[in-house]
Formats: sequence, C-alpha cells, structure tokens
Amino acid sequence: MAEIPFNKEFPHKAGEVVVLTPRIRRLTCPNPSSFTFHGTNTYILGHGKVGIVDPGPPEQAHIDRLREVLAEKGETVSHIIVTHTHRDHSPGVQLMKAWTDAPTYGYGPHGVGARRNWPFAGPEGGDTSFNPDIRLADGEILQGDGWTLEAIFTPGHISNHLCFAVKEDDIVLTGDHLMGWSTSIVSPPDGDMSHYMASLDKMLARGEHTYYPGHGGPITDPKAFVKAFIEHRGEREQQILDCLAHHPHHIPEMVKEIYINTPEHLHKAAGRSVLSHLLHMVEDGRVASPDDPPGPDSLYRLP
Ligand SMILES: [Zn+2]
Repeated sequence: MAEIPFNKEFPHKAGEVVVLTPRIRRLTCPNPSSFTFHGTNTYILGHGKVGIVDPGPPEQAHIDRLREVLAEKGETVSHIIVTHTHRDHSPGVQLMKAWTDAPTYGYGPHGVGARRNWPFAGPEGGDTSFNPDIRLADGEILQGDGWTLEAIFTPGHISNHLCFAVKEDDIVLTGDHLMGWSTSIVSPPDGDMSHYMASLDKMLARGEHTYYPGHGGPITDPKAFVKAFIEHRGEREQQILDCLAHHPHHIPEMVKEIYINTPEHLHKAAGRSVLSHLLHMVEDGRVASPDDPPGPDSLYRLP
C-alpha cells in the first residue's frame, strides 16, 4: 500500500488554547476515541468578535471552557460555522445557544447533499437537530471581523461536508474530509465514495499551504498528502478486484482478506468503507451484484 505521510503528533491537551496563526486559535474537546483521535477540534477565528468553527459534540465541559476562554478576553461570537452534521461536530451548537444568539452557518441539514436514497441505514447517527440559519454554497465567501472564509463543498465523508479556506492565512480548515492522523471514513448512505474521490481532486487543484483538520494536528504538505490518499483509495479498489477475481464475495469475507493488519474491533468500520468502494465500482461497471441496488449484505462479483 502507498505510504501516507500521517501526522500522529498532538502534544496538546483538551481545553488548552493553541494559537495556530495570528487569527486562528484551536480548542480541543475532551472526547478522545478510536474515531475522534484526541478529540474534536473547535477553531476560533479572529479576535474580539469571533467566528467558531465546529462546536463539537454535546459536551457541556467543552462548551463551558469555550465560553470561559472568550469571556477572559471580553470576546463575543459573531458566527457559528459547521463543517458537517456528524455527532462529534455540530451538536455543541445547541449548547452554545444558551449564551450566544450568533447565527449558524453550514451547507444544510443532515442528508441534504445525498445523491441517492440507498435502502439501508448507516451504523452511525447523524445530528438531525442542526439546520443552519444561513446555508453556504460552494465558493461562497463569509466575512468576519479580521477574517475571510471561502466555503468549499466537499461531499463524500458525508453529503453536507464543507471545508473552509481562511483567505488571510492561506490555509484550509478541512473538517473530516482530510485529516493528518487517519484516513477518513466514507460510510454509505451518508458517505459516498464517488463524491469523496471528486472532493479529493477538488482539494488537489487548490494552492493552500497547510490544512487544519477536525481531529489531530496539521497537514503541512497538503499536495503530497492528498495524492497519497488518492493512491491509497486506488490500491484499495485494486485489492477488492483481486479478491473478486478468485470468486464472488460478501463484504465481511473481503474485509478479512484485505484488512489483515487491522484490529478486529475496527472491521465493522472497514466493512462500511469496502461497501462505499463497491457501490462506487458497481456504478462505474467494474463490479457487479445480483442485487439492485446492492447493499451491505449483497454478494459482489466481477461483471
Ligand atoms: Zn465526520
């Protein structure tokens, strides 16, 4: 497999304010796990009247800490901005509403960008309570006090995902689309591998010098990183084709053969990733299934 230049360093504690650029601060929520790494990153944009990107999960201690950090400097919130509606990114918005009436911004409610209504459910819950006051379209510019954001529509990890370029710093807040510590989960029906691959290409065409993700530390060589991700996905698809060249497979069988070095408790998540690749490959005719539409329990074979 292609070597992805991961950055697994994160020498910071939850609740610690980390200054990243003259206009961006980061506060990490204490919700570490095998899916959230050290926890969700909340970004604070500007000074005085600030923008908040991703308040995180419904974690009262984190929202209290955020309020305290802002109160220490007499700062107020002008914008609450959300990259996507997974439960570790957007539900904190509801808790913030107890002390700020700043408007909320996002692509739209959970499921809004989905291309197909697949007849099966995802294992993970989305945050269906979030509905932004103001919907941001691809390329839209958001102006705050001392900062300018460009919304970059990047569906794939989930259908309503936005990355945000901070124009003054020439960086991108990449949410869960691109993270330095891990590949991104693409789990249907909210996740869509065809969209995800297109959203990787979209980032490759841009010129920013650093990415700050929703979990973990920065990606300081974005082009090489995104290229490695694209290569990694291509190799995964080749592994699937190699499996199917022997005989038709169900997904759990493929996961056992492909994810040899992955601990068993992550096999379920790996199965969702294989499913998203298979749906993408059925769509472009490289793989076939007797089921129409195919799903997590279907048999897959070469056409
Ligand atoms: Zn997510």
